[in-house]
Amino acid sequence: MSDVEVPVLIVGGGGAGLTASMLMSQFGIDSLLVSAWPTTSILPKAHVLSQRTMEIFREVGIADAVYAVSTPAENMRATAWYAGLAGPNDNYGRQIGRLEAWGAGYTDPDYVAASSCRTANLPQIRLEPIMRSRAETLAGPDRVRFNHDVVSFEQDDDGVTAQVLDKQTGEQYSVRCRYLLGCDGGRTVGKQLGVQMDGVRNVMHMVSGVKSSPFVAGQPGRRPIKGPTSYQKVGHRPDPAVPDRRWSCRLRSRSPRRRCVWQYLHNRRPGLPGLFGFPARRSV
Ligand SMILES: Cc1cc2nc3c(=O)[nH]c(=O)nc-3n(C[C@H](O)[C@H](O)[C@H](O)COP(=O)(O)OP(=O)(O)OC[C@H]3O[C@@H](n4cnc5c(N)ncnc54)[C@H](O)[C@@H]3O)c2cc1C
Repeated sequence: MSDVEVPVLIVGGGGAGLTASMLMSQFGIDSLLVSAWPTTSILPKAHVLSQRTMEIFREVGIADAVYAVSTPAENMRATAWYAGLAGPNDNYGRQIGRLEAWGAGYTDPDYVAASSCRTANLPQIRLEPIMRSRAETLAGPDRVRFNHDVVSFEQDDDGVTAQVLDKQTGEQYSVRCRYLLGCDGGRTVGKQLGVQMDGVRNVMHMVSGVKSSPFVAGQPGRRPIKGPTSYQKVGHRPDPAVPDRRWSCRLRSRSPRRRCVWQYLHNRRPGLPGLFGFPARRSV
C-alpha cells in the first residue's frame, strides 16, 4: 500500500512541471507535483514568452498577472546593441545598431492577427513564483510540494510507484500513480529510463547575474545607454580580467517605478574570481 495515490505524479517544479500542474487541474485531473529544490528558479534564465505561451497562460489564468509585471509593450519594439553601458567618455553607451523585434511592440499587423495575446518579457526568476502560486491554488492543498525529491521509481503494467524524500523532515514516502511526468530537466527520470542525451555537452560555463536598479537615469559625467523603446539593450565590453572574453548586459524589463532589471551573461572558465565585486560563491 502506498502512502499517496494520485492519477498523475509530476516530477519537477520548473516551467514544464508547473505548466503541467496547472493544465491538469484545468482538465479536472488530480495531480501531485514534487520538486527537488526548495524554491522556484533563483536565476533569471529564459525571459521571452511567445504569443502561444501567453495564450496558454491566459487559459490557466495567469496572463494578466504576467503582463502586469513584465516589460510594457511600448518598450518591446526593438533590440539594440551598445558600446557598453556608461563610462567616462562619449564612446560609452553609444548605440551601434538597432533591430525591430517582437512585432514592434505588438504593432505589426501580422503579430496582431496571429494572436490576441502579445509577446511578453519576464525572466524565470520572476515568472515561476506566479506559476507556482497559481498551480497551488488550482491543484488544492498540499498538491505542490517543493523540497521533495524523487529518489527512485518503478514501473509495472498498471502504473508507477515512486519513492519521494521530504528533504525538510528527512522522511521518505511512496507515491502510486498511473502516469509519471518527467519534468525534471532530464536530471532523474530520463536517466533512470535509460534515455540518452545526444550531441555536444558542456559547450560553455555561464555566469548569470541579475540586478534591479534605477541606474538607467545615469550618473553625472557619464553617458548611460538610452532609448526606452528598445526592449533588449546588449552592451559588450571586453573584461580586462579575462582576456578574449566578453560580457553582455541585457535590460530585461522596466517597471512602472522606472526601475530596470539587468541581467549579466558572461561566459568564462570555471575557477576565476567573482564578477562585479561579488564573491565567487555568488557568481554561480
Ligand atoms: C543561464 C541560463 C540561461 C537560459 N536562457 C534561456 C533563454 O534565453 N531562452 C530559453 O529558451 N531557455 C533558456 N534557458 C533554458 C531554460 O531555462 C530551460 O530550458 C528551462 O528552465 C527548462 O524548464 P524545465 O521545467 O524543463 O526544467 P527546469 O527549469 O530545469 O526545472 C527542473 C525541475 O526539476 C526538479 N527536479 C530535478 N530532479 C528532481 C527529482 N529527482 N525529483 C524532484 N524534482 C526534481 C528541479 O527542482 C527543478 O524544479 C536558460 C538556462 C540557463 C541556466
